[in-house]
Amino acid sequence: MKILVIEDERKVASFIKHGLEEERYIVETAADGVTGLEMAMNNEFDAILLDVMLPGKDGFTVLRELREAGFVTPILMLTARGTTEDRVQGLDLGADDYLPKPFSFEELAARLRSILRRSSPEKTTKMKCADLVLDTVSHLGFRFNKEIELTTKEYGLLEYLLKNKNRILSRSTITQHVWKHNFDPESNIIDVYIKRLRAKIEREDGTKPLIQSIRGVGYRLRDVPQDDNLEADA
Ligand code: CA
Repeated sequence: MKILVIEDERKVASFIKHGLEEERYIVETAADGVTGLEMAMNNEFDAILLDVMLPGKDGFTVLRELREAGFVTPILMLTARGTTEDRVQGLDLGADDYLPKPFSFEELAARLRSILRRSSPEKTTKMKCADLVLDTVSHLGFRFNKEIELTTKEYGLLEYLLKNKNRILSRSTITQHVWKHNFDPESNIIDVYIKRLRAKIEREDGTKPLIQSIRGVGYRLRDVPQDDNLEADA
């Protein structure tokens, strides 16, 4: 899951970022409303943590402009303590929840999980592909009921592949969604990580691999037999 944190207080932003990264979220930060709004509109995030008092554009303006532009990304507002008006205004403008400052990381993480769940009620917390299972709450991966040790980046990559199961994804699409938005598209990092992921999840008994390479394009995670007319080299 990819989260955008729009917060101008460096300490708070870094506290949130580090905590969320430990929980295996991919986190990007913006320190003012203008940059935050631009990042939110040009990238796909699973949720946004949005401070109210921001330089450039305040949180309410960012929220209103996002909703007016049709973005339905779940948004958790970070409000000043005890300002009921702020909370009401935020919810009226289309925020999904608010969290008064100061807050504990545990509470922030719980609220975030809650808005992520509510935004996709049709989804369960388990993503599956054949006998591969990823638990999006505990952030653990399993194959043959055995836990797979995944790094944060490997988890993010696998989650994105599972979210788009049976779809062919180009390297640049994967880069855009799983890596930082300013990542060098010419780099071969995707191939490096796919290789690491394969070493962890694929069987070695000759069965068709779950992650299929599509020559000249990218990758596909598949759980059903596909026609192999596409040039596949996996
Ligand atoms: Ca602030």
